[in-house]
Amino acid sequence: MASHKHNEPESDMALRVKAIEQLLSEKGLVDPTAIDRLIELYETRVGPHNGARVVAKAWSDPDYKARLLENGTDAIAELDIAGVQGENMVVVENTDAVHNVVVCTLCSCYPWPVLGLPPTWYKSPPYRSRIVREPRVVLEEFGASVSGDVEVRVWDSSAEIRYLVLPKRPEGTDGMTEDDLAAMVTRDGMIGVAEV
Ligand code: FE
Repeated sequence: MASHKHNEPESDMALRVKAIEQLLSEKGLVDPTAIDRLIELYETRVGPHNGARVVAKAWSDPDYKARLLENGTDAIAELDIAGVQGENMVVVENTDAVHNVVVCTLCSCYPWPVLGLPPTWYKSPPYRSRIVREPRVVLEEFGASVSGDVEVRVWDSSAEIRYLVLPKRPEGTDGMTEDDLAAMVTRDGMIGVAEV
């Protein structure tokens, strides 16, 4: 595993501190009401539906998909999606030959702008260690069995790089609109613990 800089495990308090940092930098002041609004933003308005828009566009527009895989940060920003914990995004594509899954082995690094706040299991020590040691077993437990001839790649997120999985487009979805496609894309699919 490549070494990289991690923060301490992120408690709810750590998340509040990050929110405060953003406020301080953007507003130059601290206002408890504004902090609550920011936390609410990440709990409600910023969520997996953002990532789903990215995936649906990639499925619909080959040029966009190429840009997304080339430079995730810039391609995601084309959809006006950006923010803290998403400054350096790498998108990895699931294919018939490769299944990608994302973890942060040391804490809970996660791409907030596209997926919102991480689920509890993502932050849990068992997921963080087992997905590296026995990824196929863990994927099976999530209900995503990956056949033996498909390579499983586990991506360890860090403070510097956040990963997003581009799931395989489901069969039988030809002609569907981007909005309809986006509605099919799940958070777990973009972490790589589920298929779409
Ligand atoms: Fe981390």
